[in-house]
Amino acid sequence: MDKTLREVQKEVDDWAKQFKEPYFPPLSRMAAMTEEVGEVARIVNRMYGSKKAKPEEAIVDLEEELGDVLFTLTCMANAEGINLTRAFERKMNKVNTRDISRFEKK
Ligand SMILES: [Mg+2]
Repeated sequence: MDKTLREVQKEVDDWAKQFKEPYFPPLSRMAAMTEEVGEVARIVNRMYGSKKAKPEEAIVDLEEELGDVLFTLTCMANAEGINLTRAFERKMNKVNTRDISRFEKK
């Protein structure tokens, strides 16, 4: 069975709490998350953009990098006391109300 966002947050928090400083300071967390998003951009650019990967350069798995983004995002949420389930519900509420006519439907 897939994990819920609550379970993901708890798993990361349980892991982080074993350390003296469970989470990086705020700006370091922001940098880490931004770095991981940049790694996703690098892969997508090499997959679909004009900058093709060099033959000797292995393209890291996109799935792995998205996992890194999810992890750093979860660390940010945990450190700030953000409930990601609630954050997701708020986002979906926005796309289903404010942005309801934004995209052409089938
Ligand atoms: Mg990464």
